[in-house]
Amino acid sequence: MGDAQRQVALVTGAGRGIGRAIAVALARTGRHVLINYRTRRDSAEEALQQVEAAGGTGELLPFDVADSEAANRAVQGVIECHARIDILVNNAGIRSDMLMVWMKHDEWQRLLDVNLTGFFNVTQPVVKEMVLRRSGRIVSISSTSGQSGLPGQVAYAASKAGLIGATQALAKEVARRHVTVNAVAPGYIDTEMLEGLDKEAVADKVPVGRLGTAEEVASLVVFLCSDEAAYITGQVIGVNGGIY
Ligand code: NDP
Repeated sequence: MGDAQRQVALVTGAGRGIGRAIAVALARTGRHVLINYRTRRDSAEEALQQVEAAGGTGELLPFDVADSEAANRAVQGVIECHARIDILVNNAGIRSDMLMVWMKHDEWQRLLDVNLTGFFNVTQPVVKEMVLRRSGRIVSISSTSGQSGLPGQVAYAASKAGLIGATQALAKEVARRHVTVNAVAPGYIDTEMLEGLDKEAVADKVPVGRLGTAEEVASLVVFLCSDEAAYITGQVIGVNGGIY
């Protein structure tokens, strides 16, 4: 990869939560960070301020990852402007818990469109550029739920397990081109996504006895994006306090 100062990183869903922490951590290591979000411009602007406060540079890149044309347009715009995307973090995701017997088809479809098809929509145009340049890092945020399943999360678990399969297959497709492809599987991380859960009860179930922080996920992602991680590809690494 080389020359971290000039690297360009695209982080989807970077306006808040885990994505924001990843954007800030990548900025701290000298990357120019493209902050994707869908609706919450105020949060994304705050994320950009934090990127700049960390000594980095960045810009906002709003689009819906589920919209393939919008994603492709945004990626092409970045490549025209910066000539490269060195790092892609597929982080954007939604949660919609309910028992499968109550789930409507359009609820299943939207979750899969964002969490799994979003991976395809953004990664395909990015990986083409990485393969031509023979360099790149792709990290996707899966979940413990995609590894072992949780009741009430049939669609979510399917989408996150799908990301793991896609990661393992794509890693093998592009390994010879020096592009690594990995997944990170967080457990319970204290963000807005956990709204509605009893956080104390959840923390009690975790072997280390607490929720994780977005920064703890971000530090692993930054490592996977480094030169030192060149021999790690096709892997799924948990950040879960021992829960599985
Ligand atoms: P948050 O709900 O805090 O943040 C989600 C982010 O994704 C926001 O920036 C949101 O943008 C963005 N987003 C949602 N839908 C879209 C879309 N269609 N297009 C573009 N951006 C979108 O979630 P977390 O930070 O907690 O989660 C981040 C990732 O980590 C998700 O993939 C989640 O599934 C995964 N994860 C989270 C865990 C947790 O315990 N928190 C555990 C395991 C995995 P906007 O602000 O504009 O709405």
